[in-house]
Amino acid sequence: LQRTLSIIKPDAVSRNLAGDILAMIQAAGLTVKATKMIQLTRAQAEAFYAVHKERPFYGSLCDFMTSGPVVVSALEGENAIQAYRDLMGATNPANAAEGTIRKRFALDVEKNAVHGSDAPETAAQEIPFFFSALEIV
Ligand code: ATP
Ligand code: MG
Repeated sequence: LQRTLSIIKPDAVSRNLAGDILAMIQAAGLTVKATKMIQLTRAQAEAFYAVHKERPFYGSLCDFMTSGPVVVSALEGENAIQAYRDLMGATNPANAAEGTIRKRFALDVEKNAVHGSDAPETAAQEIPFFFSALEIV
């Protein structure tokens, strides 16, 4: 079993879509091991997305990610990282497949409803960024 970090982003939380998205996650066979709603500080968003700091969209992305609450979750399942990325769909919802979270709910390439870890090393950094061992059941 593998774990991955999910973030339901401010665009989706503000539209009351967190429940629908968690239902899609569970229907796909992924188990929610921890979840909480938080509002990121600017410093936290910048640290979380530090890998993108040279990208032209970094400032706007950090503004967006701090614009309202997010729902962060640790998910577990067989091939959880790839399974969740498949469920999320393409970064740009214009390219996202039918049945994916981003096809259903994303607004545009930035306000794209969800984040998921992209590799085992990333998940191993991202889960402890938000959760202590005690918070994961
Ligand atoms: P995530 O990392 O959030 O799971 P991803 O791996 O599909 O998404 P990345 O390339 O890692 O996409 O980009 C991180 C986030 O930055 C995207 O999810 C999106 O919110 C934002 N982003 C990516 N590309 C653009 C862009 N061209 N313009 C604006 N925002 C973008
Ligand atoms: Mg990414």
